[in-house]
Amino acid sequence: AAPFAYGEALQKSLWFYEAQQSGPKPAWNRVSWRGDSGMNDGKDVGVDLTGGWYDAGDHVKFGFPMAFSATMLAWGAVEYRDAYASSGQLTHLLNNLKFVNDYFIKAHPSPNTLYGQVGNGGTDHAWWGPAEAMGMTRPAYKIDASCGGADLAGETAAAMAASSIVFRPTNAAYADTLVTHAKQLYTFADTVRKKYSECITDASGYYQSWSGFNDELVWGAIWLYRATNDASYLAKAESGYANLGTEPQSTIKSYKWTIAWDDKSYGAYVLLHKLTGKQQYLDDANRWLDWWTVGVNGSQVKYSPGGQAVLDRWGSLRYAANTSFAALVHSDSITDATRKTRYHDFAVRQINYALGDNPRNSSYVIGFGANPPKNPHHRTAHGSWTDQITSPEQTRHTLYGALVGGPPDPNDAYTDKRDDYVMNEVATDYNAGFTSALARLYKEYGGAPAANFPAQETPDGPEIFVEAGVNASGGTFTEIKAIVRNQSAWPARVLADGSFRYYFTLDGTTTASQISVSSAYTQCKAPTLHQSSGSTYYVNIDCSGQAIAPAGQSQHRREVQFRISSAGTWDPANDWSYRNIPTTPGATPARTQNITLYSGATKIWGEPP
Ligand code: BGC
Ligand code: CA
Ligand code: CA
Repeated sequence: AAPFAYGEALQKSLWFYEAQQSGPKPAWNRVSWRGDSGMNDGKDVGVDLTGGWYDAGDHVKFGFPMAFSATMLAWGAVEYRDAYASSGQLTHLLNNLKFVNDYFIKAHPSPNTLYGQVGNGGTDHAWWGPAEAMGMTRPAYKIDASCGGADLAGETAAAMAASSIVFRPTNAAYADTLVTHAKQLYTFADTVRKKYSECITDASGYYQSWSGFNDELVWGAIWLYRATNDASYLAKAESGYANLGTEPQSTIKSYKWTIAWDDKSYGAYVLLHKLTGKQQYLDDANRWLDWWTVGVNGSQVKYSPGGQAVLDRWGSLRYAANTSFAALVHSDSITDATRKTRYHDFAVRQINYALGDNPRNSSYVIGFGANPPKNPHHRTAHGSWTDQITSPEQTRHTLYGALVGGPPDPNDAYTDKRDDYVMNEVATDYNAGFTSALARLYKEYGGAPAANFPAQETPDGPEIFVEAGVNASGGTFTEIKAIVRNQSAWPARVLADGSFRYYFTLDGTTTASQISVSSAYTQCKAPTLHQSSGSTYYVNIDCSGQAIAPAGQSQHRREVQFRISSAGTWDPANDWSYRNIPTTPGATPARTQNITLYSGATKIWGEPP
């Protein structure tokens, strides 16, 4: 039997990409608590840049890791498509891969123009709320023929070329479109030969191109060769190989790091060996994977006592997962029995560590296995309506399948703390190699996906509602303090056309003309008087034009104080909306069902008399 339900982990890992979707939510998206968001992306530059993935626990669309994630996901399906099919996950993989490629197509409106980022790191990170309620401007940034980006263009070419192979059997026309874009992007990359983060400088604080673009030029060519069979791309990859990084003061190719969003050299070792069988690629791949396993000349990746290979502090599990996937591909393409087992077993060990085989006996994949993390550094999953990482205390949504950063040090220690983005953020690039490794392990060991996944989430309470209480009262008047609150998260939504009604009944012989309404304080419009039926009237408060959104302490609420005065008699006790509210003057308003709230003409809260 499988030590872990790899099929379930794969299923959830893919679902995570649906939680990261930006733009109009597709009908097939399975995340009940997500909605449309980022709907104006690209308007500042006159290009539709809706769609794509939010990078991590934030809402910037960083093109460089997005493209890398797409390449890694596609790579898994290129190698192990049968595992996707037999686990029932192929449709989900194709959906998610098409979603991100559709965005790359939009981001590449002409041969030498590629939008590589939407959203500004600083302004995005300064706000802690759900994607659906974002209010900051989201600038679009591009690279073009004068302003660099061979790494970004090369990786995007790799992503589209690799994806085309995955789409080829079921959607040849789409595969052709992707190949066309990939070829143009590759030519652009090969010509411009600059680092993208020198052009899109905002990215340099987050995804600086440390390794440069030589690796992406090789990597992109490899994937174009695989997608087209055009030998000139293989020749480009092989000639560019000489430019890949080496260990300091040596001609030995780098081996003390791994394939991740920045440096694809390690993937090139593995794939060029697989495609050509040449000794140098084999030696470079083996040396690299030996450093991750048995060590090379006494040097080795750090290991925790519990067995985690820890390359670096930030997102340690992602480095181990990426290496695991490449190790599995390499293991499957070599014949040396010792190394085959060595790299295979390393990968199984690292993936199992993430799934729960560790000293904490805990899963590092949200919503999977034993004692998984519950408090990822993820704005939309948290669901704060007050722009506070500390409130509410409980994370409101289960972000299934997301691999958290993991232990920063090689000591197996970890805490499930929301504010710790080094060990508890999640990201599209963290899950990518991981997903592909899971497909490979499913192929070997099985482990069924969960039935009836995903379960529909139930909101943790009323989402958009009215609170009210008596502010002041007298023999001929009642003054109400009412507050509309928007704490929505299933999905979060902006109430821009709200209005609410306070119902009361005329007393004795009093007529409507003897009633007046006024307001000493309103964050909406002035109150107006309307007949409901017979002697029942209501005060209408129109809040339209106000974006009442779960976006901050003041943004999520609107307060209105209004007074109903009578020139005749006045008895509030028999009034519908007076029932069930605190009546001691000055009392804190309480949630009431007896005031109805509308979005446009649709009642969204409360009951009328
Ligand atoms: C954001 C994270 C980001 C980190 C480092 C934090 O403010 O919430 O998403 O990873 O900054 O840039
Ligand atoms: Ca690079
Ligand atoms: Ca009355």
